[in-house]
Formats: sequence, C-alpha cells, structure tokens
Amino acid sequence: MNYQIEFKKNYMKACNFFGIKPKNIKLKIIKNIKLINKLSSNVPWYAVGFYNKNTVIMLDKELFPSRGHKKREFSKVMLHEICHIFIKKIVKKRIPVWVEEGICQFIAFGDKIKPKKFVNLRKLQTYEDWYKLDNPYAYCSNFFSYLNKKYGKKKILKFIRLLNKRKPEDAFAGVFGQDIKVIEIEFRRWLKNLKNLKNEKSLKKNGKRKGDRKGNI
Ligand SMILES: [Zn+2]
Repeated sequence: MNYQIEFKKNYMKACNFFGIKPKNIKLKIIKNIKLINKLSSNVPWYAVGFYNKNTVIMLDKELFPSRGHKKREFSKVMLHEICHIFIKKIVKKRIPVWVEEGICQFIAFGDKIKPKKFVNLRKLQTYEDWYKLDNPYAYCSNFFSYLNKKYGKKKILKFIRLLNKRKPEDAFAGVFGQDIKVIEIEFRRWLKNLKNLKNEKSLKKNGKRKGDRKGNI
C-alpha cells in the first residue's frame, strides 16, 4: 500500500463530507510500537492512530494486529483521524466527545457495526466518560447515521458549526428541531426496528430452507 496515495484519497473523502479543504495536513507513519506511547501519553493501549495538530499519526499497517486491529481497518482508521483534524478546523472550542468521535467514526466506518449496548449520549461529554465504557463508537456512529438518513448531511454540518456559538444541547435542538433526549429515543427505536427486521429476514430464510428440506423428504 502506498501510504501517501491512501492518505490523499482519505483526505479527499473528508473534504467531500465537510465541504472544506484545509491545507498542510500531514501523515506520519510509526514503524515502532514503543514510539506511540512516547508520542502521546493519553492514548489508550489499543489505539493504532491518532492526531496531533495537523498531523495524522498512524501505526504501520503491518503492526495493526499487534494491537488487536485488523490490517484492513488501516485506511478507515486513517480517515477517522483525518476527520478529527477537520472538525478542529470547523469548531474552535471543546465539544462533547460523543459528537466528535461519533462523526469521525460514522464517516470512516459507516453504520454496519451495530451497537451491542445502548449508552447515554448526554453522559459522554469527556474522554474520561468515553474510556469508562466498553466501545461506545458503534452507538455514536449509528446515531450520526440516523441523523444523516433522517435529517441529511447539511444539518449535521450546520450543527457542528453552531457549536462555536451555542451550548451543545441548544445547538442540537436549534438544528434538529427537538431536544436531544427526544431524538435519542427515536434513534433507539430505529435501531430496535432494524434489529427486528434483520431477525425477521433470517427467520424467513431459515423457515424457507426448512420447508425445502421437508419438500425433499
Ligand atoms: Zn477518534
């Protein structure tokens, strides 16, 4: 894999989503796992990518398995980190962790991975809250997928920009027209429906197969 080509591709994807083209964003590949801990002390043990100002810092793809990641996640993790830098260009102050991680994860990984557990968005304000939970990424990225499907990308971008001026809850209600509590309940219902739909489909499939077998006998 040519890392620079991959980086350019992912950078373009981020430009496409956020509608901006920030300059001087760089990539640094780390080929020595010990260096990761030296570069940043607050990176969790499983991290394979992070960012510092305008630089995306990635562990070499070949070293991904040593931190429990699949090599095929490399490009997506890279895009996730690029998105962090883009958000920092748009919002000049600290924003709730669920917003930032949720958007980055949604853009990079989409919503194929469904959350095993529900978390409470309003309780995910800081990284301290975030690391207490077992993998809140899927829940938060699915939340943005829901917003994207129901309200569209433009509103998500409007919401991020509004975080510069307003408190997160006010910005959210201002853009999406309802309190976040209400929309989170609707989102959970949507998730449950998706799950039921999936179960129904697999039941039908199994039922059909059973039927076929009966026919053969
Ligand atoms: Zn992140």
